[in-house]
Amino acid sequence: MTVDIHQPYDDDNIFARILRGEIPCKKVYENDHVLAFHDINPQAPVHILVVPKGRYVSWDDFSIKASDQEMAAFVRAVGEISRDSSLNKGYRLIVNCGHDADQLVPHLHIHILGGKVLGAHLVQS
Ligand code: AMP
Repeated sequence: MTVDIHQPYDDDNIFARILRGEIPCKKVYENDHVLAFHDINPQAPVHILVVPKGRYVSWDDFSIKASDQEMAAFVRAVGEISRDSSLNKGYRLIVNCGHDADQLVPHLHIHILGGKVLGAHLVQS
C-alpha cells in the first residue's frame, strides 16, 4: 500500500524495525542521526537506502519537523556514503514522497543508485 503524505508515523514500519535492530540489514553507514543500508531488491549495481533515525513519514514530514542538525546530518551523510561507494562517475538520488510517487515504506528514505550508466530520467505515463 502506498503512503498517505499526511498519515501519522507508524512505529511498526519495516525501517523503524530495522532501526531498532529487530530486523537485520546490510549496514553501509551509521552516525547519531542516520542509518544507511543496501536495498533488499536492488535496481542498480549500487542501491543504498539512507534513513534518518527520527520518526519521519516522508520528505514532507521531515522538511517540516526535523531540526537543522538532523537535516544537515542527513544531507552530509548522503554525500559521504556516495563518495565512499565507488560512485565517482556519478549517481542518482530518488525520494519517493507519498501516493503519487509510489512511496511504499512510511519512513523517509533516500535511494542512492549507481554503478552503471542509469540513462534518462523516466516517468511512467
Ligand atoms: P519506496 O517505494 O521509495 O518506499 O521504496 C522502498 C524500498 O525499500 C524498496 O526499494 C524496497 O526494495 C526496499 N526495502 C523494503 N524492505 C526492505 C528491507 N527489509 N531491507 C532493505 N530494503 C528494503
